[in-house]
Amino acid sequence: MELSEAQFQRYARHLILDEVGEEGQARLLRSRVLVVGAGGLGSPMLLYLAAAGVGTIGVADPDRVDITNLQRQIVHATQSVGALKVESARATLAAINPEIRVEAHPLRLGPENAEALIAEYDLVADGSDNFATRYLLTDLSYRLEKPLVAAALSPFEGQISTFRPYLGAGHPCYRCLFREPPPPDLVPRCETAGILGAVAGVLGTLQAVEVLKELLGLGESLDGTLLIYDAMRARFHSIRIGKDPECPTCGENALVSAP
Ligand SMILES: [Zn+2]
Repeated sequence: MELSEAQFQRYARHLILDEVGEEGQARLLRSRVLVVGAGGLGSPMLLYLAAAGVGTIGVADPDRVDITNLQRQIVHATQSVGALKVESARATLAAINPEIRVEAHPLRLGPENAEALIAEYDLVADGSDNFATRYLLTDLSYRLEKPLVAAALSPFEGQISTFRPYLGAGHPCYRCLFREPPPPDLVPRCETAGILGAVAGVLGTLQAVEVLKELLGLGESLDGTLLIYDAMRARFHSIRIGKDPECPTCGENALVSAP
């Protein structure tokens, strides 16, 4: 794949890096990433992945832009209130980088539609705000052997990890860490709990970095590590995650069919 003159200019700060270069940029342009959720995490992720020249970005979100979203969901503008989030995001990304392709999926992912959708992409980035979607993506990305870069938020804290459990021993999945979803009434969501918007920005931006590293094969993966950001104490810390042999998704006696 030869880069055009316009691409040489647009991606000059990537091309000058030995770790990316022409080959890496061409790889990004060929890549297909599915971002689930065009909200607080999805917004900065989408902006940076588009700017970086990830060639095809799928965006899945069933919701419309609400005025209360704008405090943190920075891919959407005031004029987009009422529009589908996937269409609002597509318009913003087209303005940033018209040469990439954005595939809008205005749907709620469920067991009936998620597998076919994920199969079309190289990597899944979870920016969803609910446990049903998180566990669905965990199980399906394992079965389809797609790296999953996942983050979660609380009002002043965030967590991020990368999951590649199909690689075998030493590569846990989200269920190895948290076996079952908590009861729904114990889960505060942004609508009720509130969140400092910029905390979502930190985690969504970290997700974009980890997605780009996975696509380029750069540095150390967060596979096997949970990175936690504590905004109040202005600290990051990380925890090693082991593979659970009893894990219902990726363990030895898993219920989900092995890849
Ligand atoms: Zn597991």
